[in-house]
Amino acid sequence: MNEALPETTRDDLIRDLHLSGISRGDNVILHSSLKSLGNMRGGADAVVDAFVEVIGPSGNLMVPTFTYSIPKWMKTPFDVQSSVSQTGAITESVRRNPAAKRSFHPTHSVAVLGPDAEEITADHMQATAIGLASPFGKMHKSGAKIVMLGTNQTSNSSLHYCEVHAAVPYLPIAFSDEVDYETAWFLNENRHVEYCEIHEVPGCSRGFENVEDELAQLGVMRRVKIGPTMSQVLALRALVEAMDTILTRDPELLLCGLPYCAICPKRRERVRRVRL
Ligand SMILES: [Zn+2]
Repeated sequence: MNEALPETTRDDLIRDLHLSGISRGDNVILHSSLKSLGNMRGGADAVVDAFVEVIGPSGNLMVPTFTYSIPKWMKTPFDVQSSVSQTGAITESVRRNPAAKRSFHPTHSVAVLGPDAEEITADHMQATAIGLASPFGKMHKSGAKIVMLGTNQTSNSSLHYCEVHAAVPYLPIAFSDEVDYETAWFLNENRHVEYCEIHEVPGCSRGFENVEDELAQLGVMRRVKIGPTMSQVLALRALVEAMDTILTRDPELLLCGLPYCAICPKRRERVRRVRL
């Protein structure tokens, strides 16, 4: 921690969250970068505290605690009790909170604090990773807001949900060739290793910035300052509605242009073949 930097406090965040339109009773999906807050007094725990204080006892705070537990990527299978979140220090703070519930999913688990945590995290294994019946789908139904704290749309997992909702033609294309799924692994309740298929694979998000300016122009995304960092706030229902239109017009928009990407070139080819 750099002591020369001005300190950000929990109260700074509470004030700015109110100014950003987050209020009591809100359900919030939080994507975050602790580093973007600079010298944060109390660290990740204080950031989580600030959100809980603002949404109050009737609001729910959901964070991704993704582990991407696919044998070719991760050396150990997903353990719902102990696998560390790969999506940042603030998400790990929620996961470790004794009051939080974590969904059981070997690649895209989430952790939730709030009165509906049990319901939001239930049956994730029976749903797809970020599909209609996943915790993201439940947050969509509940009218949740999304806060990108010091991050931008490249970390907005709800755009993967929008890909599913808009039924883009490339959903059956996985990272692996010849199959329309990835094989993930996890420890079951008896602590034995099991394998399962992940369908509607959430692919690459490096192209998600492509849609940022349009979402801002439509008023679906607002750029706000929270503490010292530029952040973004969206309403999930408005995002899904806008993305249904945008992805129907341009189904390749969320795909990145990197020639070495392991999935986007294949997905682009699928879109073009379907359109012929
Ligand atoms: Zn890509």
